[in-house]
Parts: sequence; structure tokens; C-alpha cells
Amino acid sequence: MKRRRAKKVKAGSVTIGGDAPVSVQSMTTADTEDAEATLAQVRALAGRGADIVRVAVPTKAAAEALAEITKNAPVPIVADINFRGDLALRAIDAGAAKIRLNPGNIRNWETLRKITTAAKDAGVAIRIGANSGSIRKKDTNPKITTPELMARTTIRWCDRFEADGFSNIVLSLKGSSARETIEANRIVAEQCRYPLHLGVTSAGLGQDAVIKSAVAIGALLEAGIGDTIRVSITGDPLQEVDAGISILRSLGLGKPGVQVISCPTCARAKIDVEKLASLVRSKTADMEKNLTVAIMGCEVNGPGEAAGADCGIAGGHGFGTLFEKGTSLRKVPEAELVDALLELVEML
Ligand code: SF4
Repeated sequence: MKRRRAKKVKAGSVTIGGDAPVSVQSMTTADTEDAEATLAQVRALAGRGADIVRVAVPTKAAAEALAEITKNAPVPIVADINFRGDLALRAIDAGAAKIRLNPGNIRNWETLRKITTAAKDAGVAIRIGANSGSIRKKDTNPKITTPELMARTTIRWCDRFEADGFSNIVLSLKGSSARETIEANRIVAEQCRYPLHLGVTSAGLGQDAVIKSAVAIGALLEAGIGDTIRVSITGDPLQEVDAGISILRSLGLGKPGVQVISCPTCARAKIDVEKLASLVRSKTADMEKNLTVAIMGCEVNGPGEAAGADCGIAGGHGFGTLFEKGTSLRKVPEAELVDALLELVEML
């Protein structure tokens, strides 16, 4: 796929845009005023594969705790600011790599000018993060659609920032539906060169959130649009990282890694595909090589159905078949199947 070539923006050690890989973000849910608890969550998210972590900064005490968090975090920290521009200035002082501002609730241009000046001096990026709800609430023109309104608002902010000499900008336009999100990002992608952070706002619980996000983010990435992503899920944010990485891998984007595929099983299945696939996925989670590994239920159809995979195993009666690119290599006793597969993965 041909990616839209966005301007390169640095958020600490991570590049967003240009030819940088699409990065995965998540957000902490701990109280930011509790630096230790927030840091523990940041470390867990980074360990799971998050490239950038955002923390909410709703109070002065949270901005003070942020200094401790940014100093010890293994990944760049983004400060999420709503309503209070003064906290953006404090967050920049506290070492945030990027600030997220919501154009739906910060409107004082004098304050914004102070923020862009401080951000420029400190080499900090700013994400102009528009959400459909907060943008729509402020507008009464029924003729303009919500995606158009989000695009118009973010472009207006870019123009103002540029007029003040600031262009270290990332944009996000998050609708509450996949369609709204896709539409808004398509419009803005044509109107500017700034990198785009993709996500659906308030996407919901578990599977609903993952599917809605995968549809929106996947459609945009497939069209070459998007430079960093966040899957928003109510609950443990580790799920967000897993979902983000899966979306990228399904499109062959993101950092190198092993993608485990498996058949849905049917009456022909001779092995516990779910158990084996989970085991192989956990054992290959940290490998940095681009491989597709298949776990298939039967020898009859498995190797053929997974011919597109680099290697895999297919179940048999007490034995399984180890295969590479659809061709059977050898029979392996069932108890040794996973080890044999992992050995092959190491060699490829
Ligand atoms: Fe069924 Fe075999 Fe296909 Fe799995 S690989 S779905 S067990 S036919």
C-alpha cells in the first residue's frame, strides 16, 4: 500500500510520520497524582509493546507528579490536557514529549500562543485532538457534517499555530462511529501534511471496541492514511496495545513480529488448536521477525489452507505434521509439536 507521506514529528525518541513505522499508543487509567501507580502502568504498557503512553493531567498535583513519571518512563509520555491551558505549560515543564489539546474545550488564543511558544522552546510536539462530541456541541450550523466540522476546526488550529511559528503538530479526528472517523480523516488527510493519530472515541467495551476500531483504523491505514494509532477500550489498557498491534500486523505494518494464525477448527480437528495457538503466540510474542505461523487442526486441509504462512503445524492421530510454506517437512509426536515448531521459527 502507498502511504500518505506525512511531515515527520518527534515525540521524544519516537518519530511519527515520514517513513517511520506506525506506532501504537495507549493511555493509563491510574490516578496521575499517584506517580508510582502510573509509572507501573506505563512500564506494563511499554512492556506489552506500546511505543508511546498518554496520561491525563487534570490537576496541578497531576502535573507535578508528571515530572517523576516522565523522568522514569521507558517510552515518551504524552500529557492529555482538557479545559486548562495552564496545565499544558506545567506539563511541558515536567518533561512531557507531547501535549494533547482538545480544540473543543480550549479556546483562548493568548493561552494557546503561550503553549506553542513553550512547546517550541522545549522541542515538544502538540496533538490537536478533536473528538466529534466536543466539537459538535459548540457548533450550531446544521448544514455542515460532523466530519467536516472536525476537519475544519483542526485545520483552523493548524493555521493559527503556523501563524505563531509552530508546526510540530500531530492531528487526530475521532468520531464516535467508524464511519465518522474514516470520513473526517479522509478529508483532513487531503488538506494538510501533518501526521495523523487514528482512533475512535469512546469505542466501548471489549469486542465492540476492537471491531469498531479495527474497521475505522484498518480502512484508513489500508488507504495509506495514519501514522500512529490508539484503540480505545473501556477496561484494562493492555488490551488496547494487543488490539493495536494486531491491527497493524494484519496489514503488514508496524514493527516486525510473529503473527500466529489458526484455523477455526471443525469436526476434522485432531489437536487442541486454541491451546496450542495461545501457547505459540505467548512464546513468540517478543520475537522481532516478520513471520506468519499457522496452527491448523488437521493434516487433511491444514498445510494447504495455510500455504501462505511461513511455517506451521497441523494435527494428526497422536502425531502432527510440521510444514513450511505449505509443504510437509516431517511427522512429529503430538507432545513435541510446539517445540519442533519453535525450533523451526528460530531458524527462519
Ligand atoms: Fe477443519 Fe482442518 Fe480446516 Fe481446521 S484445518 S478448519 S480442522 S478442515
